[in-house]
Amino acid sequence: MKLKSLIAGVIGIAILAAAPLYTSNPYYIHMIGTIMIYAILLFGLDIVVGYTGQVSLGHAGLFGVGSYTAGVFFLKLGAPLWVIIPASIGVTAGFGALLALPALRVTGPYLAMVTLAFGTIIQILINEMDFLTEGPLGIKIPKPSIAGVQLDEHGFYWTVLALMVISLVVVDRILKSQLGRAFEALRGSPVASDCMGVSVYRYKVYAFVISAGFAGLAGCLYSYSEQYISPNTYNFELTVLFLLAVIMGGRKSRVGSLLGAAIIVILPKLLDDLELFRMVASTLAVLMAVGGAIAIAKKMTTAKAMALPVVGTIALAGFSFWLQSITDWRLSIFGLMILFVVYYLQDGIVGFVRNLLVRKGSGGGQALVLGGGFRKDAITQAASAGAGEDLLIAKGVLMQFGGLKAINNVDIRVKRGTIHGLIGPNGSGKSTMMNVLTGIYVPTAGAIEFAGRSVVGRTSSDIALSGIARTFQNVQLFGEMTALQNVQVGLHHTFNSNILDIALHTPRYTREEESSVERGLGLIDFVGLADLANEEARNLPYGKQRLLEIARALALDPQLLLLDEPAAGLTAPDIKELITIIRKIRDHGITVILIEHHMDVVMGVCDNVSVLDFGQKIAEGKPADVQADEKVIEAYLGGTAA
Ligand code: ADP
Ligand code: MG
Repeated sequence: MKLKSLIAGVIGIAILAAAPLYTSNPYYIHMIGTIMIYAILLFGLDIVVGYTGQVSLGHAGLFGVGSYTAGVFFLKLGAPLWVIIPASIGVTAGFGALLALPALRVTGPYLAMVTLAFGTIIQILINEMDFLTEGPLGIKIPKPSIAGVQLDEHGFYWTVLALMVISLVVVDRILKSQLGRAFEALRGSPVASDCMGVSVYRYKVYAFVISAGFAGLAGCLYSYSEQYISPNTYNFELTVLFLLAVIMGGRKSRVGSLLGAAIIVILPKLLDDLELFRMVASTLAVLMAVGGAIAIAKKMTTAKAMALPVVGTIALAGFSFWLQSITDWRLSIFGLMILFVVYYLQDGIVGFVRNLLVRKGSGGGQALVLGGGFRKDAITQAASAGAGEDLLIAKGVLMQFGGLKAINNVDIRVKRGTIHGLIGPNGSGKSTMMNVLTGIYVPTAGAIEFAGRSVVGRTSSDIALSGIARTFQNVQLFGEMTALQNVQVGLHHTFNSNILDIALHTPRYTREEESSVERGLGLIDFVGLADLANEEARNLPYGKQRLLEIARALALDPQLLLLDEPAAGLTAPDIKELITIIRKIRDHGITVILIEHHMDVVMGVCDNVSVLDFGQKIAEGKPADVQADEKVIEAYLGGTAA
């Protein structure tokens, strides 16, 4: 698979490199050059949109910053290309940070608004700061020279190609590294990211800054390509076009970015030429009809589902021949196409083809063998010093949601090296307690001390890195990532390599990546999922997802592990193995707090148990004593079933 895509890539680059040799028409050379420049920007935009799942309407602005950095450096300083390229990347990345730091405090529609405003402000600034940018007059820039040789159209084309290929490799390396996994993780489950020590906010900002760097490079090349830049190029339409290109091409795909770039460059030209439009529309209609018929015959889809797209494309073809002039209809046709893509091609063209080629649903039907050949070094031995002392001390914890006291003045002490049960009827505040311990909620009152340090008010990722790992009652895996990658996110703290190490694949990065794979596999093996390491987490059966969460939590090398109903959804034999796993975890010196409804699990493994009811602690002690406690029996009989 890897070799195949490498060969395909080399052939593609060779074809692109040879393009100036078989057409000397500068129009086409310029067009392909523009596609490659846009592709560089889209590689970066895809990091933000496809991987971290944020919307940016500010990328035309960033593109403009890149262009104008090049323009101003040339105009005011006469700087050469080798200065201008890093300057454009650096300045634009700086603007990206300026945008991201405040903007990424908000999400969704608010983020879209802030980034949109940013784009508008950039355009206004370029217009108004005419002492620097020449304002609406624009800046003229000749083609650059490299090592004293003035580049002609072809020379510049090859330079762009080379930089596009370098960008492609660098982006690919970033996305396959711990950075890329962090980006994907924060989209998959922000809460789990933070609780794995991967700060959602920080990595969103990183993604934006890296993305801006690529926008800067693209903008810089664009100014040389056009040889003239003016403020109105970098407008709202361009920003929407960029976003559309990522979605149409297919997110999380470099081929998708290239396709998207080709579409947004070629489509407007296509809609300028009536003859060409008729030809393409009728070809599309024929393809759609034939493809639809085959798909229906093969029972891949129903006649009903195919009816609208087939009739739609045929109608479009008919419409194209009825049209006398296309100019009035351009925007409407464009709008229709967008609607079609959003409705029928949600995964973009690349995603659509992938779905056709790959048959979905490879089931994992094999029996689960838990705790099998567990490698000793996969779990790090937690500090055993001070065994028997209090690792966690919570005093007078109060968590209020409006009028509801979900936790009401609770004290809990957990001794190092023990398994501490936390039980109680549904809604008694157990999960809320875990959320308070891991920084998801800040308690209304009370003190929490972990390993001698206060937890209250610190961020989830900070608390996680200081040694508290957890699983979630409603599983929070990174669905689109494999089991191994999920665990590798937990191992994020073991990486010291920076973006340069990643781009250059230095020995430091390679060593860290290899050891994370090895340890990740060891941890997956430890919870008995060895055969499923490369399966996407969302495809795992529910019970196995819970086990994977435990492996991921262990990757954090925690001193304290919080398990929120780990046995839910497991079959009886699996529960037995789960008990073995929990004991082994304790034997490694890791302290465990266990929320559980299954009394046999609680009785079987816990050293101490605290019982909550309506947010209050009603009993505490050895499991057997607690089970015999009258208040506890009453709480369980009065509330929902245990
Ligand atoms: P348990 O895990 O013991 O079943 P929870 O801790 O999930 O119970 O919930 C305790 C109480 O707090 C419930 O009444 C629940 O509705 C409430 N609660 C939990 N989280 C929130 C929240 N974010 N906002 C409002 N109420 C909440
Ligand atoms: Mg709960």
